[in-house]
Amino acid sequence: MAVEETGPFLRIEGVSKRFGTFQAVKDVNLTVEKGEIFSLLGGSGCGKTTLLRMLAGFEEPSEGRIFLDGRDMAGVPPWERPVHMMFQSYAIFPHMTVAANVGYGLKHEKGLSKADRAARVAEMLDLVQLTQFAHRKPHQISGGQRQRVALARALARQPKLLLLDEPLAALDKKLREHTQFELMSIQQRTGVTFIVVTHDQEEAMTLSDRIAVMDKGQVKQVGTPTEVYEFPASRFVAGFIGSVNSFEATVVAREAPWLRLHVPALGGDVLARDSAAATPGQPVSLAIRPEKMRIAKDRPEGPNAVAGHVKDLAYFGKDSLYRIALPQALVQAHAVNARRGDEGARVADWDDEVWVSFDPSAAIVLVA
Ligand code: ATP
Repeated sequence: MAVEETGPFLRIEGVSKRFGTFQAVKDVNLTVEKGEIFSLLGGSGCGKTTLLRMLAGFEEPSEGRIFLDGRDMAGVPPWERPVHMMFQSYAIFPHMTVAANVGYGLKHEKGLSKADRAARVAEMLDLVQLTQFAHRKPHQISGGQRQRVALARALARQPKLLLLDEPLAALDKKLREHTQFELMSIQQRTGVTFIVVTHDQEEAMTLSDRIAVMDKGQVKQVGTPTEVYEFPASRFVAGFIGSVNSFEATVVAREAPWLRLHVPALGGDVLARDSAAATPGQPVSLAIRPEKMRIAKDRPEGPNAVAGHVKDLAYFGKDSLYRIALPQALVQAHAVNARRGDEGARVADWDDEVWVSFDPSAAIVLVA
């Protein structure tokens, strides 16, 4: 078996997967470091589960190689990999107690005495705060607690890598938010590397150290949540992660440190972040996040200001989302409400005449 001496904890090298003539995963190259929470994020059918299944050993790549902890995984069966997969359905046994479910995978672990096994189960129940539910059956606990049973069972085997397929999908929104933090805290305490498959961009942003954004079997961008949000590399990533106002534009000239663009929908020229790939005359996209759009009653100083009026607004308490009609475009702006708890808390009201503006540093130029 080939062994690499150094390198990242997990290296996925040119991995593709074909089912007949259909290519589900296309030439994926990724590295994951020890102790990371790494997410595979993408829409339905983009190939994220197939990639996860290849890491687990349930599928063999059609091309490419996977190295885990320096070891080539080609031909290594699932049970010999230091990897455990937690399924979306949790796959816990309804007739067994919580403790028996957690200890299930330890039965055949060599060199583990009955007492060792009981100690490991107790440790895991403590980790996921289910000690007091040890003797209950799965139907006697909540959905969030069942999720923790599945997590404890997966971690009991002490995998080096834990694969989690949509770990929070079965929980309702409120519980999901709470459980995200719990999952992060458990990961930190165990130090196990987590790879999480999700289609939920907010979940990926909250949980992950880094995210791989996937589309049609390919990895489109890899980065920290901030990198993929603030510096999307393509229209696809900008649109997939969060909301965005996007406009067709043409590059006019470099005006260091900015790039001058002509944007018909905004009624003229704007200054934007420079992009090394942009050349004068080139058609590009301009992307601006709604929360980067400023709203003011008076014309602000500086570039990138357009007059319009508030067409719609949604009040969320701490902030409001405005749809502002400009002469040739409808834009979204997200603004934090003032601290005062009265009607004046909003920056603007229905039909108000306003100016929207944005800083050149918030204006993202996309050539791909
Ligand atoms: P979802 O979020 O819906 O589960 P996904 O991103 O996890 O989507 P995959 O399950 O990896 O997507 O599937 C990627 C593509 O490969 C899909 O079009 C799917 O139909 C196809 N596919 C997956 N497994 C097989 C298989 N065993 N045989 C044939 N096609 C498959």
